[in-house]
Amino acid sequence: CGIVGYVGQQDTLAVLLGGLKRQEYRGYDSAGVAILTDGGMLETAKKAGKLQALVDLLQAQPLVPGHTGIGHTRWATHGGPTDVNAHPHLGDEGKLALIHNGIIENFAEIKVELLAKGYEFESETDTAVAAVLLGDVYREVGDLREAMRLVVNRLEGAFTLLAVHTDAPHLIVAARHNSPLVIGLGDGENFLGSDVAAFVEYTKRAAAVGQNQVVAITPNSVEVIGFDGTPVSIEEYEIAWDASA
Ligand code: GLU
Repeated sequence: CGIVGYVGQQDTLAVLLGGLKRQEYRGYDSAGVAILTDGGMLETAKKAGKLQALVDLLQAQPLVPGHTGIGHTRWATHGGPTDVNAHPHLGDEGKLALIHNGIIENFAEIKVELLAKGYEFESETDTAVAAVLLGDVYREVGDLREAMRLVVNRLEGAFTLLAVHTDAPHLIVAARHNSPLVIGLGDGENFLGSDVAAFVEYTKRAAAVGQNQVVAITPNSVEVIGFDGTPVSIEEYEIAWDASA
């Protein structure tokens, strides 16, 4: 039930795990991360259980490091709390990773469509349907942000979504509808989180994401548009946070 995203020069895995750790209070049953490596590969790891189970897995099978990544803690709603159902879920032949907090209510009808197109599903989650749909739309439009905008217009329910694709090694695209998402603004780096706890260790500058908005972050840019494509200007605020608390 926590989400974190990072683009920048720091040790991305450490930033992601720290962000998930600080959001543990939200409750969860599984955890996972996806990292885009500097060599243009997508690396993922996911595990049912506590964050420590994921950390142990990452120690046994280390990921190639990178500078763009997303992390997730799951509170299972569709499909039991298993390794396979943990996020991230993949699309576009393993080149795209997506994480999701919330519930996609119309996933079953979209799944039928995607199955008819020949796609296969490993997990029972609603989320995997969004991942495969995003990959399918991306192949048509060739732009990850526009693909996300088109996909969220088809989804019903509650969702915060974050996605990365190997074609865009320094980009995270995100969206929110009935579920929280906040941007952390850094110097040559940017963050996303379910709440500011995800990144408060690194920056006190934040910007809220409004209902029905799509966000694209790179290390040096933050762009927000509405689900209708209209540009939105972000309003920055200072996080009031007592680090000793
Ligand atoms: N509905 C999704 C699932 O069951 C996401 C749950 C969550 O918010 O963590 O996988």
